[in-house]
Amino acid sequence: MSATTETDAYIRLFSRYLREQGLPVTHQREVVADVVFSSVEHLSVDDIEREMRAVGERIGKATIYRTLDLLVKSNLVAENDFGEGFKRYEHRLSREPLHEHLICLHCGTVAEFHDSAVHQIEALVTAQHGFRPIRHKLEIYGLCRECQSAGVSLPREGLICPIDSV
Ligand SMILES: [Zn+2]
Ligand SMILES: [Zn+2]
Repeated sequence: MSATTETDAYIRLFSRYLREQGLPVTHQREVVADVVFSSVEHLSVDDIEREMRAVGERIGKATIYRTLDLLVKSNLVAENDFGEGFKRYEHRLSREPLHEHLICLHCGTVAEFHDSAVHQIEALVTAQHGFRPIRHKLEIYGLCRECQSAGVSLPREGLICPIDSV
């Protein structure tokens, strides 16, 4: 199956969701969905707007936000908040559904990883607390390899811990 055929299938799923909700399936909504489904990145609204302009589509931010909201509600797209002051969106079905994120604080690159050790820790810790897990989220913040090679260093955030400085 080619990437395009796959993307078409996801757009059809989204259209079906819209119809089930009694919402119109518009060209604009399909274009926004197409951009998100075709990408392996964690896209911001600005990224999406830029990609649409590159293919000659002019769609306002309000429509993009509204469509993303519907994509998230449909469960086809996941919304991430990496503390940048805006959200990032990723297609859920084209990748490992359960994955964790490494976020570079300098260049904003988001990498994904999946490791069964994370699930072992979840099982262990929740068992110790008699807690029934539904989902978890692990985000690791720091510097990516490229930024480290470029000599970037980050200032320490917040107060220095008095225990550390003794
Ligand atoms: Zn970086
Ligand atoms: Zn991701």
